[in-house]
Amino acid sequence: MKIENVFKISVLVLFFNLIVACNSNQDKLIKKQYFIFGTIIDVLVWHDDEHLVNQALTEVETELNGMHSQWHAWKDGRLHEINHALRAGESFELTDEEVQFIQTTQLLSKQSLGNFNPAIGELIHLWGFHTDDYPITEPPPSESEINDFLAHMPNMEEIVINNNQISSKNPRIWLDYGGVAKGYAIDKAINILKKHGIENAIVNAGGDLRSIGSKGDKNWKVAIRKPNSEDVLAVISVQGDESIFTSGNYERYKEFNGKRYAHIIDPKTGYGVEEIVSATVVTDNGTKADAAATALIVAGTKSWQKVAQSMNLDQVLMIKSDGMCVATVKIMQRLKQSDLQCETVN
Ligand code: ADP
Ligand code: MG
Repeated sequence: MKIENVFKISVLVLFFNLIVACNSNQDKLIKKQYFIFGTIIDVLVWHDDEHLVNQALTEVETELNGMHSQWHAWKDGRLHEINHALRAGESFELTDEEVQFIQTTQLLSKQSLGNFNPAIGELIHLWGFHTDDYPITEPPPSESEINDFLAHMPNMEEIVINNNQISSKNPRIWLDYGGVAKGYAIDKAINILKKHGIENAIVNAGGDLRSIGSKGDKNWKVAIRKPNSEDVLAVISVQGDESIFTSGNYERYKEFNGKRYAHIIDPKTGYGVEEIVSATVVTDNGTKADAAATALIVAGTKSWQKVAQSMNLDQVLMIKSDGMCVATVKIMQRLKQSDLQCETVN
């Protein structure tokens, strides 16, 4: 299968009507850009008090930078300490917020029927994906290394949290939150904005975004486009608090002997996924949307509908490696300015 020939969907915020908007309206749109998580994060806020917005955004920036350094899957920081303790069979004291986050990911993993499994950090490490340098060109792990991991496959249910003490009986657990970090960060950013009384905003991390409120008397509009192209595939008018996330299986990959191995790994087989190129999900928060997009790619054409049902998702759009797409009726009904022809399901 030639995944490189197929486009990845990503999302771009469009500023429709900006040119024709009157000055007072333009004054209310505040745009800021940050570089965190190796990603450009665009924040758009519709508000008339720029000073208050700047205060809120300073807090957002500090919080997200802290999260990036503390929750890295393979560099020093809080998550590294947690993983170290779990793999040594020791317990570790978590903050209340950490308890809440880890429990949320346990639930998401369960609802995804194990397709989203952030406990497989060791496998991701084995494949060489714990690096900042792409593409990776070292050989893939041997079959026996993969089989050995599969025989001890960790899952999120093996994590026990009691009075903020986290522990596990499986020393092969290695938490890697790469599949959900962006979603969680965006949720954090939105919560900080809300705390400062900001009710109309979009936080967009390289195409994955959450919106709240509206842009004045209009809905925020978001374009789904082909990467490296200005071609707009479709436009979605975002209604209030919604998150739109896309996972793609080929942007980060290992290439060896002419074969590409995706960085999204199927915990059932131990190998990178090939069948689905991208999965786009619309739901009500970033953490869930991010985990779900990863889970749906892993589930593939055979089981994605089961996973969507179990995660209570009704807006999904998947692009297959043959370039065909399949989507739920509900997301298709929302796509405007689109000539996308997708097989639809309810
Ligand atoms: P992207 O944002 O790159 O499109 P994802 O949100 O799907 O992709 O995140 C991919 C990352 O998730 C990988 O780099 C790895 O850290 C982690 N990951 C890979 N496979 C899984 C899986 N089955 N479950 C949970 N996390 C995974
Ligand atoms: Mg994800």
